[in-house]
Amino acid sequence: MSKSLIVQKYGGTSVGTLERIERVADRIAKVRRAGADVVVVVSAMAGETDKLLKMARSLSKNPARREIDLLLSSGERISTALLTIALQARGLPAISMTGRQIGLQTDGTHTRARIKNIDAQRARKMLRENHVIVVAGFQGINSAGDVTTLGRGGSDTSAVALAVALGARRCEICTDVDGVYTCDPRMVPQARRLDVVSYEEMLEMAGLGAKILQTRCVEFAHKYKMPLIVKSSFKEGDKGTLICEEDANMEHPVVSGIMCDKNQAKITLKEVPDQPGIAASIFAPLADASISVDMIVQNVSEQGHTDLSFTLQREELDEAMAIMNKVAKKIRADKVSSDAKIAKISIVGAGMRSHSGVAAQIFATLSAQKINILMISTSEIKVSCIIKQKHSRLAVNTLHTAFALAGTKKKANRKTTKKTKAV
Ligand code: ASP
Ligand code: MG
Repeated sequence: MSKSLIVQKYGGTSVGTLERIERVADRIAKVRRAGADVVVVVSAMAGETDKLLKMARSLSKNPARREIDLLLSSGERISTALLTIALQARGLPAISMTGRQIGLQTDGTHTRARIKNIDAQRARKMLRENHVIVVAGFQGINSAGDVTTLGRGGSDTSAVALAVALGARRCEICTDVDGVYTCDPRMVPQARRLDVVSYEEMLEMAGLGAKILQTRCVEFAHKYKMPLIVKSSFKEGDKGTLICEEDANMEHPVVSGIMCDKNQAKITLKEVPDQPGIAASIFAPLADASISVDMIVQNVSEQGHTDLSFTLQREELDEAMAIMNKVAKKIRADKVSSDAKIAKISIVGAGMRSHSGVAAQIFATLSAQKINILMISTSEIKVSCIIKQKHSRLAVNTLHTAFALAGTKKKANRKTTKKTKAV
């Protein structure tokens, strides 16, 4: 619809206090004065969602998800109403909207609902009447008319979905960081902010635990090719990081970012009989317990037996070990052991598609530091290695230097005819 429309989302920290709400209101007033139509999506004030959850859990070990949704949606209502009041106090024709009022319809999965449709008629009318619409993020309604929420961090997804439904020019995620970095600056002091990241790279990074954006928000933006900008809600005039479609003519470094997930654990089953159906008997009970397994490695079989290792999130280790001890008895595996002191280092870059030798360079870099690699997995644009956790800082810093991510002028040109990726 309106190509002058911008959807801006403000996270919890950005609206965490009344002073901050005033600053956000000033910023929105400026965007408006510059001639753009604005729809604003807000999160609950910082800490509010956690506080509400804690209250529910203090009353019941297992509160009903339907009630949790009603409870949590109130956090966004507060910030939405307060910001609208602040905008009106500045003379802007602002109007607040809950998920229901904006027409955000979801499926029935309470606390993790998926957006099905946005009936944007009313919003369009409001925009035609020149309103600044302030929308409570993270919430919608199901077909029964009950309040649902979209999972933690869901306001990002609300914002992109609204931007798509209203045909906005772009969706800006205004937050407490000023963009997407080559690596976590707390681990790598030389980490640099990226100007552009492709949707696919951002999806990998979000899946690897970059907390900046909800994964589903990036999927949504990718699907509808909605340009996303991650920028600071505090720095004026900052351009942040643009997340968009990869452009074949764009000059890019081969590697865009390095991620480090220390929240990993590994389980090994020794001397597992090498027979059909064994892998299924190991992984089915884990799936039944909703435990997601990440990497799996099976050794070459010797005398009818093999060793099998897999990784998972550390919080799920105890539960998974209890299950594996039972499974090991059943399938007559010799021993089960675990290691919680590991880390997953991942190197992400769309340029890997056309550049061979990236994995080899990663392995050489780690070996020069005498860092042993315990497991490896690759995808088209990612290489992940499991290493000992105590080596993680050294590993990411040397890799960051090896791939010249700190911002030297030297950039490898991705425009190459070679299509295969050698690992
Ligand atoms: N308030 C919700 C949360 O903390 C949603 C959001 O902030 O995006 O997860
Ligand atoms: Mg967030």
